[in-house]
Amino acid sequence: MNSVMEKESEGGDLYSYDEEFRDNIATVDEKGKRIWIFSKKPIGNLHKWRIAVTILLLSILFAGPFIKINGQPLLLFNIFERRFIIFGQAFWPQDFVLLALVLITFFVFIILFTVVFGRIWCGWMCPQTLFMEMVFRKIEYWLEGDANEQRRASKEPLTWRRTTNKTVKHIIFLLLSLLIAHTSMAYLIGVDQTLLLIQHSPAQNLSGFIGLMAFTFIFYGVFAHFREQVCIAVCPYGRLQGVLLIKDSIVVAYDWLRGEPRGKMKKETLPEIKKGDCIDCKLCVHVCPTGIDIRNGTQLECVNCTACIDACDEVMLKINKPKGLIRYASHNSISEGMQKIITPRVIGYTIVLVALLGLVSFTVLTRSDVETNVFKVPGTLYQRSEEGYITNLYNIEFVNKTFSDLPLEIKVESPAGVSLVKPDGKPVVVPAEGLLKSVYFIRIPASDITQAKTTVYLGIYKEGKQLERVKVKFIGPVYKK
Ligand code: SF4
Ligand code: SF4
Repeated sequence: MNSVMEKESEGGDLYSYDEEFRDNIATVDEKGKRIWIFSKKPIGNLHKWRIAVTILLLSILFAGPFIKINGQPLLLFNIFERRFIIFGQAFWPQDFVLLALVLITFFVFIILFTVVFGRIWCGWMCPQTLFMEMVFRKIEYWLEGDANEQRRASKEPLTWRRTTNKTVKHIIFLLLSLLIAHTSMAYLIGVDQTLLLIQHSPAQNLSGFIGLMAFTFIFYGVFAHFREQVCIAVCPYGRLQGVLLIKDSIVVAYDWLRGEPRGKMKKETLPEIKKGDCIDCKLCVHVCPTGIDIRNGTQLECVNCTACIDACDEVMLKINKPKGLIRYASHNSISEGMQKIITPRVIGYTIVLVALLGLVSFTVLTRSDVETNVFKVPGTLYQRSEEGYITNLYNIEFVNKTFSDLPLEIKVESPAGVSLVKPDGKPVVVPAEGLLKSVYFIRIPASDITQAKTTVYLGIYKEGKQLERVKVKFIGPVYKK
């Protein structure tokens, strides 16, 4: 998106600022060396709201693995066993189409949300921002002081007090990373398995222990060292902002019409030399955790954390100007004075989203508790019996997607005269969340066969209710009539 770079003055001049800042990022110098960001402690109304939202969301995140629905976890993403539970409902690799549809719907929702509300997710809900800005950085302020103190200390030799503070800080960071790693593990393998991991010695579950340690050091590396670089250089959602945002998207924006020309407030400034409301105090830059100057316009690095809004509002109050020089606003709402939400792009994405939601709902509602796959036994064609039947041999696999054992009945639906034989005669009971493989014969009287391939339909029933209908190809000889 184009940056907010120009303003027509009352005299008709065009102020413009070069966009060279877009050629590099604020956290890396010309030699490619990391510039450490010491952001000033944020305070203000929005920050208070963010604290409340953070407490709520992190409580949900940590409580999530313990919440169960009908004895099943609320959310489970067991990629190792390819077992997923969403709101107590189990999904299997066989539900690939449904999962793909859900993912596409989710992406369209994210796109629509971003087109309208920009990066609200990043500033208010993303776990990376919540942990980094509202947990880890707050511990840093508590132990090492505000930005100026930290910056000054970083240039001085280590003192005993600083060494102690740094050690305590990194121990706390490691412990928090360990907690986050355990929570992540609980979402992957379930809370019961994670508790077992904790209770037993690492030697008894080495792979689980290695996984936990790997997670811990990754989280520690991210929050103690990599920090804002995750949002700037790694996060795909952040990288996509350039194509997702439009000029009507609501983002954290500087009102350049009101703010420019910026300049220091001086008593001797003549009243006729009118300046904009920005007094160039750079507080908005000093509080920014990604080190950018929002007055340059919307930038990929901005995670919409609102710290600059709070900082600028405080300045405006002090100089008796209205708040909101930096605020949630779209480019067009600043330049045209009117905020548009319903744009052609929003309408287009909404139509696609509604269609996808309809499709997902239909797929979920018509989803069967069982998945049946029928395969002809490899290397077999057909057999002719003495009683005058042609038989085909099949392997049938039943996948039970529910959390209880499933007794099933299999019947031939059509054509008439076809019969199904289970050689072992045992009843079919598919174990909960399990798989059952059985061998079956399908028999058709030789006199009924009129073509090389006959389509047979099988019905899968539970307590008289049809769960699924399966199509099977039957191979036989062709008898000329
Ligand atoms: S905090 Fe406000 S007044 Fe100060 S530099 Fe930023 S925009 Fe200008
Ligand atoms: S520009 Fe403002 S909202 Fe964006 S990251 Fe910096 S402080 Fe946060």
